[in-house]
Amino acid sequence: MRRRPPGFPGLRHSRAKEPALDGARVIVCPMAPFGPDGRVWSEDPEDRLVLTESDLDLAARPSLLFAGSFPERLAAAAEKAGCRPVALNDMDEMAILNSVPTAEGALLIALERTTVTLHSSKALVLGYGRTGQTMARTLLALRARVTVIARRPAARARARADGCEALPLEELAGALTDARFVFNTIPALVLTADALERARPDVIIIDLASAPGGTDFEAARRLGLTAVLAPGLPGRVAPETAGGHLAEVVTRIALQSLAPVEVRPS
Ligand code: NAP
Repeated sequence: MRRRPPGFPGLRHSRAKEPALDGARVIVCPMAPFGPDGRVWSEDPEDRLVLTESDLDLAARPSLLFAGSFPERLAAAAEKAGCRPVALNDMDEMAILNSVPTAEGALLIALERTTVTLHSSKALVLGYGRTGQTMARTLLALRARVTVIARRPAARARARADGCEALPLEELAGALTDARFVFNTIPALVLTADALERARPDVIIIDLASAPGGTDFEAARRLGLTAVLAPGLPGRVAPETAGGHLAEVVTRIALQSLAPVEVRPS
C-alpha cells in the first residue's frame, strides 16, 4: 500500500507533476540518482515519475533544482530552462554532514555481523576524504586500533596527526592480513581478488563507496568473506537527521540565491 506523505501546514500534495512544477522557484528531487531518461528515484517501484526538459520549462525563471547528482543531459536542460541545478552530493558541507550518519550506519552493519567489539580490534579505513575521516574518528572514539590507507602523503599525515596509523595504498594487501574490520570509502577497485586473498577469514568488510563500490564482491564470495555494499546510509539509518541536514542546506541556498518575491494580498 502507498504511504501517504505526512501533512504540514501550507503543504499541498499533487498527484500530477505539472501543477507542482508550474511557477516553482525551488524543486527538490531525491538524493538517490536519477534513472535512465530522467526517471526520479522512488522507493515505490510502481512510481514512473520522469523529469523532462518541457517539465523544467514550467518552472519560474530563475529557479533552483536540487538533487544528489544529475545526469549531464538533465543538468544541461535545466540550465537552458533557467533552472540552476545544484548537485548536493558535490558539496563539502553536505558530504561532511552526511558522513556522521554514514559512519554510524557502517558501525551498525559491522557490529550486526561480528562476535567481537570494535574496541581493541584492528580496523582499516580506506580513503581519508570526508567520509573516511569521520569513519576513522568514530572508530578511534570507540578505542579501535585504526589504520588509514590513503594514496596522498598529506592525507596520511593528517591521519597520523588524528591518532591513526597510516599506510600507502600499495601496503593495503599486507595490512589486510590482521584486520578484523575494513571500511572502504574509495570509489575505485582497491579490494581486488589478490588483496582479498590475504584477508582474515573472519574479516568484516563494509564498502561505503558508491556503486559498484571498491570491492571485488565476486572474489569475496568465492573466498567466503563477509563483504557488504552499504549505499544510502544517511537516509536509511538516520532519516530524521539526514532530512534535517538537507532542509537546512536547501533552505539556506534557496534564500541566498533567489530574490524575494513580492507577496500581494489576495
Ligand atoms: P571524498 O571526500 O572525495 O574522499 C574519497 C577518498 O577516496 C579520498 O581519500 C580520495 O583520495 C580517495 N580516492 C578516490 N579515488 C581514488 C583512487 N582511484 N585511488 C585511491 N584513492 C582514491 O569522498 P567522500 O565524500 O568521502 O565519499 C566517498 C565515497 O563514499 C563516495 O563514493 C560517496 O558517494 C560515498 N558515500 C557513501 C555513503 C553511504 O551511505 N554509503 C555516504 C556518503 C558518501 P584523494 O584525496 O587522494 O583524492
